[in-house]
Amino acid sequence: MKKNYDVIVIGGGPGGYVAAIRCAQLGLDAACVESRLDDSGKPALGGTCLNVGCIPSKALLDSSHHYAFLKQKAAEHGINTGGASIDMRKMISRKNTIVKTLTQGIAGLFKKNKVEWLQGHARLLGDKQLEIKPTADDGGAYKIKGKHIVIATGSAPTAIPPAPVDQKLILDSTGALALAEVPKTLGVIGAGVIGLELGSVWSRVGSKVIMLEAMDEFLSPVDRQIAAEAEKVLRKQGLDIRLGAKVTGTGTNNHEVTVTYEDKDGAQSLKVDKLIVAVGRAPNTAGLGAAEAGLALDPRGRVKIDARYQTNLPGVYAIGDVVAGPMLAHKAAEEGVAVAERIAGKAGRLNYDAIPWVIYTWPEIAWVGKTEQELKSGDGRYKAGVFPFLASGRARALGDTVGMVKVLSDANTDRVLGIHILGPSASELIAEAVLALEFDASAEDLAYTIHAHPTLAEALHEAALTVDKRGLHF
Ligand code: FAD
Ligand code: AMP
Repeated sequence: MKKNYDVIVIGGGPGGYVAAIRCAQLGLDAACVESRLDDSGKPALGGTCLNVGCIPSKALLDSSHHYAFLKQKAAEHGINTGGASIDMRKMISRKNTIVKTLTQGIAGLFKKNKVEWLQGHARLLGDKQLEIKPTADDGGAYKIKGKHIVIATGSAPTAIPPAPVDQKLILDSTGALALAEVPKTLGVIGAGVIGLELGSVWSRVGSKVIMLEAMDEFLSPVDRQIAAEAEKVLRKQGLDIRLGAKVTGTGTNNHEVTVTYEDKDGAQSLKVDKLIVAVGRAPNTAGLGAAEAGLALDPRGRVKIDARYQTNLPGVYAIGDVVAGPMLAHKAAEEGVAVAERIAGKAGRLNYDAIPWVIYTWPEIAWVGKTEQELKSGDGRYKAGVFPFLASGRARALGDTVGMVKVLSDANTDRVLGIHILGPSASELIAEAVLALEFDASAEDLAYTIHAHPTLAEALHEAALTVDKRGLHF
């Protein structure tokens, strides 16, 4: 066992494993410490995203989407299925196989890049020394030292006192990705990104889903026009979204949960078979030894960093969900690259104004840059072009015509300021929008770009044309 490394990364999620690989590619001697064990008790890389986040949720969203298609739309295409049915155990086991393949893939990448994987829990001892407690009980704690330390310990589901998670009746997002049976009724606290995705999965496979959201406004960070349309379509799909509903308590017997909440009409109560708590995520610093090592945290418990990812401790950096900013895997991974390059003496950087967001409901919601409400409350000098999927030939062929693309650009320079999509495959379409922002494109640049026909991407082209009032197909 080595005692000294150029770089030790704490956490093997998208932030940490990418940082470790990039450090190794740049010629640094890198190790990555990860404490996670999978369901069978084996050490696993990939963090929240691969094990209990992005990937398993998308596996279940895709499976449940196919099922909903067969049940609700196949007949419209002239396809008679003779009745589709669900094998939930198989759906979950398929998801588990995908997770296993991908997490083992990271172990393979570590081998290839000569990153040492230290299976254990890391604690800061000061002076860039760490204590590692191995996850396997076959050895005692040991000490290692790095010339540089990168903290990438990520985040965990936020707990709220009125709804203590027991992973039997009251679940967090991790429990909600492992249910082996479809609950008849399902409550979800929090109609944010994770709540809507998990609510969609279980609603599509047959649960009656009731979503309790404390805020009066639906998806407040999202462009208002897009959020209003999304709310309409998700309600139509059967999600019972109750806004302005603050959960005050829960009670359980051995088979159901009673949830009490307050809304504008006073105290309410509700009985559900299962309850998911999806009220956000909190930075993971417990057990890291932050206080003892003198590591500065902000009031929300996130590690404080400067523009170079440097904490208050010299040579100790932090990235990903454990620092301020959007809790997104691609943001964590790009910060992983940037911090590795800075450690290697290069100029790693991120354009925080061009980070895409996606909510994988169907239709999907995706955006980058400023919303119309943000531009209105600024200097108000912007132009907007909207194109509905209803008028897209490809969306018609697909049978997915709900939603729109909206392009917002500067009234004087025409520079693209924001692009918002509600529609089929919005998660893929947003890449072009991100590129437009990254390259400081104008709406006219997008309008002059030739898009293949018939494609969903033509909707973005038409929205860009509409900014200049020269749309052709609507
Ligand atoms: P993490 O992925 O949380 O990894 C940190 C790792 O550090 C963990 O594995 C942990 O075990 C380990 N660790 C912590 N402390 C220590 C220690 N002291 N010693 C050793 N190891 C330690 N984001 C998207 O961009 N797209 C999505 O579609 C998406 N879907 C999501 C769906 C769900 C249900 C959830 C919960 C999250 C989703 N996210 C999504 C968010 C995404 O998972 C996170 O933003 C991302 O994982 C953050 O990466 P990270 O490397 O900062 O931290
Ligand atoms: P996100 O930040 O996207 O993960 O979404 C979390 C959502 O949970 C936010 O929209 C919050 O308003 C909501 N939320 C937080 N606490 C409560 C609560 N006690 N009852 C209902 N909703 C809540």
